[in-house]
Amino acid sequence: MAHDVVLIPGDGIGPEITTAMRRVVDASGAQIVWHVAEAGAAQIECVGTPLPPETLELVRELGVAIKGPVTTPVGTGFRSVNVALRQAFDLYACVRPCRSLPGDGSRFRDVDLVIVRENTEDLYAGIEFAPDAPEVAELARLVEASGQRPFRAGSAISVKPISEEGSRRIVTYAFEYARAHCRRKVTAVHKANIMKATDGLFLRVAREVAALYPDIAFEDKIVDACCMGLVQDPTRFDVLVLPNLYGDIVSDLCAGLVGGLGMAPGANIGADCAVFEATHGSAPDIAGRDLANPTAEILSAAMMLDHLGETEAAARVRAAVTATLAEGTSVTADVRLAQTGSAEGAVGTAAFANAVITHLA
Ligand code: ATP
Repeated sequence: MAHDVVLIPGDGIGPEITTAMRRVVDASGAQIVWHVAEAGAAQIECVGTPLPPETLELVRELGVAIKGPVTTPVGTGFRSVNVALRQAFDLYACVRPCRSLPGDGSRFRDVDLVIVRENTEDLYAGIEFAPDAPEVAELARLVEASGQRPFRAGSAISVKPISEEGSRRIVTYAFEYARAHCRRKVTAVHKANIMKATDGLFLRVAREVAALYPDIAFEDKIVDACCMGLVQDPTRFDVLVLPNLYGDIVSDLCAGLVGGLGMAPGANIGADCAVFEATHGSAPDIAGRDLANPTAEILSAAMMLDHLGETEAAARVRAAVTATLAEGTSVTADVRLAQTGSAEGAVGTAAFANAVITHLA
């Protein structure tokens, strides 16, 4: 059966890595009808917004998309396309598996953990006030009236909403994921000792949800201690569930445990829609030079194939990526550099995809 999928190439290295990904998926045996749609910085000049309404409509209609990274232009007043997509389709669960692969160049071995990041709330909600906004004076009055320590005059304010509903559904998602993937433990990550209202709520709900899953172990960790634990011994962790901002930061840390940003896939899941994308950004420093590692994007496509029910094709893609990295003769510069301290002998994005396709065959 053929599946309709929206393909958003994105900015920077996006077009290169999505081209590589598409070639690999097309060679995997899965029948995908690609619907290419635009989003990104170039769209601002063409249509006045980085996320054109036609692209949003297509994602809404087809329900499945895979995208390259999109640059958020600084200082233009435009919202991040990623955040806009997550909010538009309520893609509340960001799932980022981090698994050691042979020859990934990491100093850590046997890492096999999954980050489940809440995607819609927290400091990422985008509720912000510049120092001169009238709301800041209003907030200052509210804080004073509540008897809490006033903030400094001239402060900028970002609001951190964490809801009971948002916390319950993301922690439930993490436990359901753990059950479905035969995982043993869920760790809730927070800073409830300091942010008693927001992270305290998240932790209380996490404990309540955990009680409904006696077959899966549960622990909670303060985010700073969790980061230390992750770099001391990542094999102690299994599924981690985190509010949005900690999820963002810890995701990159965990990508570093398995060879870097070029290796870490991701999925943004909602009730009616799913958008797949690598963890990394648009990496403008290496864009257009056939240097980018498409592994994260290809492994994101494997997650998409699983989501579409194409589990055999997904397994074949993962096996071909693993075999290519294990063979070690066709790896991109980031991996070669991590392995040997020099990028010498590395291959480009397209050649890496060719090697993966050869292993698929
Ligand atoms: P964002 O703000 O969107 O997260 P960023 O600029 O902070 O983006 P990235 O673009 O994710 O960060 O990447 C940081 C660096 O990691 C890049 O400059 C690049 O050198 C490297 N990098 C990222 N992705 C890849 C990749 N797929 N292959 C090789 N190197 C990569």
